[in-house]
Amino acid sequence: MGTVSADSTVTKTIWQYSEPLPEETMTFLKGIAADYCKVKNYVYRKYSGVKNVNNLTPVYNILNEMRHCGLREQLNLPVVYYELAIADAVTNIKCSWGTVRNKISECITTNENLSEDDRIYLRTVLKMNGVYAAILNQQEYVMPRNAAELDIDVKHLNNLLCRLTRRYLTQPKTDCTDSFRISPNGYSYKDGAIRIVCRIPRKRISIPLRDDRVFDRQLQIQIRQNDIVLAVPVEAKVKRHQDYINTIYVHMGSKDMFTLSNEHIYGEALEELTSPETERLAKKNTERRKMYTAYMQSTENGDTRKAESIEANNLGKRKYDRQKEKEKVKTTTFINAEINRMIKAEKPARVVITKPVTKNKSKIYSKSANRKLARNFNSYIRERLAYKCKVHSIELVEISSNHTGNICSMCGEEGKRQGREFVCESCGLKITIALNSARNIQQKYLAKSNA
Ligand SMILES: [Zn+2]
Repeated sequence: MGTVSADSTVTKTIWQYSEPLPEETMTFLKGIAADYCKVKNYVYRKYSGVKNVNNLTPVYNILNEMRHCGLREQLNLPVVYYELAIADAVTNIKCSWGTVRNKISECITTNENLSEDDRIYLRTVLKMNGVYAAILNQQEYVMPRNAAELDIDVKHLNNLLCRLTRRYLTQPKTDCTDSFRISPNGYSYKDGAIRIVCRIPRKRISIPLRDDRVFDRQLQIQIRQNDIVLAVPVEAKVKRHQDYINTIYVHMGSKDMFTLSNEHIYGEALEELTSPETERLAKKNTERRKMYTAYMQSTENGDTRKAESIEANNLGKRKYDRQKEKEKVKTTTFINAEINRMIKAEKPARVVITKPVTKNKSKIYSKSANRKLARNFNSYIRERLAYKCKVHSIELVEISSNHTGNICSMCGEEGKRQGREFVCESCGLKITIALNSARNIQQKYLAKSNA
């Protein structure tokens, strides 16, 4: 992991909530989000192909073309939303090209039919946007200098590059109609409300906020049932602590959040905080599924009145969302406080944890809503831990979880699980599964780094 310079920053997202909003404001917001989505899909269709691979930077060219294509007028979408939607879409297209290049690069490494010269050529042209674009579009190009001396079949390799590109290039598509972004010139503040540009020139829609914080940057607007959430990216300064010198070995568990190999526990009994919620969720989900089935059936049978009445109740979602949100905040607050407490108390320079379980393993559990939610919090915990490590310049190391669960940390023999306990019959060790796992993580990491 690289070192962080003293004045570097990390981006974090902070949230701001609106008051409940009247129906017409919600309709307006949903309309903007729907159009925002249409603009993005239009850009995806038009610019994600090989023809435009070299025209994505700078974004002005595409913005200029899009200004004259008539789509904005057709949608009657204000410029602030229109242009940000375009910029967002172009960023995503560039991102998907990045993925294509990574995948091709992997193929180049693993393809045994390629010579070392072949690989040098392919890697070189893949890095040079102009050359790569010319090859994909069967145009002339100047052979890169360090490829001139290579013993290669250029035509054959170019064909391979085109084939691989076709295989991995997909046209992005979005169906997200509950969020959009807004730039600073699209909003202002007045009397505790954010006032955003609307479809009528020189008019603004006022959205009262629950607190009086004001910002001066691009905001993401998330539309909810009857209010909105503003996601605001802010820069946080990276802190350096001279006295953070320890290495801690952390088992992430479902009962307690973190168990360390030094026996300290953080996020004790996290499960108890989440389990009433998971049970309630599982029950609610069943109810909602039933209602959804009824809804689908009545639409299929043409019983629109019944369908409408179910829809008006929004499939029972309203109350459910509110309560869910409340419990979620309670849990996430606890998680963050406990991660902070750990960092402050343990003063780590390095945190060693296991990698998340692989897809195949987690598939087994995917049927149970219980596990699903626990997993959601798991990924949240990982994300927060990673973020806080960055903020405090702590190195976060992830090792494979193989042989950290079922092997005795004292003698290395296979042991048994009895409830929360790990029991080793060959040496008599009896500790919690979590502590045994944390000690195994420590031993595995030390063995590896001393090897
Ligand atoms: Zn043992």
